[in-house]
Amino acid sequence: MSEQTRFILPQSSIPTQWYNIQADFPEPMPVPLHPATKEPVTVEDMTAIFPENLVMQEFSTEKYIDIPEPVREVYALWRPTPLLRAVRLEKALDTPAHIYYKYEGASPAGSHKPNTAVAQAYYNKQAGITRLATETGAGQWGASLALACQLFKMECMVYMVKVSFNQKPYRKMLMHTWGADVVPSPSDQTNFGRQMLEKNPNSPGSLGIAISEAIEDTVTHPGTKYALGSVLNHVCMHQTVIGEEAILQMEQAGEEPDVIVGCVGGGSNFAGLSYPFMRERITRGKKYRFLAVEPSACPTMTAGGLRYDFGDTAGMTPLLMMYTLGHDFMPPAIHTGGLRYHGMAPTVSHLFKLGLIDAVAYHQTHVFKNAVLFARSEGIVPAPESAHAVTAVMEEALKAREAGEKRVIVFNLSGHGLLDLAAYETYLSGGMEDA
Ligand SMILES: *Cc1c(COP(=O)(O)O)cnc(C)c1O
Repeated sequence: MSEQTRFILPQSSIPTQWYNIQADFPEPMPVPLHPATKEPVTVEDMTAIFPENLVMQEFSTEKYIDIPEPVREVYALWRPTPLLRAVRLEKALDTPAHIYYKYEGASPAGSHKPNTAVAQAYYNKQAGITRLATETGAGQWGASLALACQLFKMECMVYMVKVSFNQKPYRKMLMHTWGADVVPSPSDQTNFGRQMLEKNPNSPGSLGIAISEAIEDTVTHPGTKYALGSVLNHVCMHQTVIGEEAILQMEQAGEEPDVIVGCVGGGSNFAGLSYPFMRERITRGKKYRFLAVEPSACPTMTAGGLRYDFGDTAGMTPLLMMYTLGHDFMPPAIHTGGLRYHGMAPTVSHLFKLGLIDAVAYHQTHVFKNAVLFARSEGIVPAPESAHAVTAVMEEALKAREAGEKRVIVFNLSGHGLLDLAAYETYLSGGMEDA
């Protein structure tokens, strides 16, 4: 074989610390506000729904936080994940660019989400919590939390957006297999759900409604806390294991990235790959570019505004300073469930405001066209979310071809699409439309 194309690390290279980008921000980020008083939220406010150990992480500006050994031991089920060079895709595009991808689809749930689910279950267990409540859209987060709760012997209650519950049964089955309870949202289990059903019995649900239900469930059940799969600082921080491994793997490959790419829903997988590289840019003058990719149907950064907004529809969460389309924004029913969120992680929003990140949006038919080319070149069928990153990567590679220059592109293949094949089938049969 002429060239190495797959870069793997030994189990001992699983990172021992998460990286907290707040320690290196050129200027501090606006703090979250209490929804009623509009005063900065306190640790006490947050412990109504999160355990204190995770609240302390949420507020922390320590540069590194040690990863507990039991969490690293679970990570060892699939970490370190491989970094691959997409040589066949490079050939198909006839580009001088070198394209690398970090493959987070290698986890048991098929995405990056268990990186934080496992950490959150562990810290809740440490705090004496016995049950976690959460929401899920297409089911990736619910499945990841179900897995994590099972591994730490906790109960898991998932409010799943009704349209996905009905149309995408496989992740619901996965959650059942891992022992979680799953109900379609809006549900009759909460006051807010019942109100929503009264207004519209056929409500397809939304992520915002499901979050409101999960929070209400949390505050009405003793021994229960809430877990969020993206957006918050501690969630993005748990994902930095991706970028720390990728830095070592790019050293193995003997290359420096020019551009680092990830899709953004709430921002966590993008943060996970980017932030360790961003640290090198901010603190050591590296020239890396960062590109966040979103769907045109839910263009949070490319068309939304930066302001304080709620994370949920009911207005129960703290107000976060973030790019947002408004907490009552109802995204059209595109095939990329994981990117249909109205807001953006405050840390990603802050870096975008500071000009350290670029953002771009694509329509879904364009995204699926590129996803199919990726699958036919590299074999892996990307999750529709990840296919947004794939699309931006291909555009970068084509620009490199036009400019006749080598460019090193690294992107996060945040998950596989093996439970999203119905969307591929819709695309391949010509039935997919742009919102
Ligand atoms: C949930 C999900 C996303 C979007 O969430 P982020 O927090 O923005 O990472 C992206 N890709 C996959 C595969 C997902 O499951």
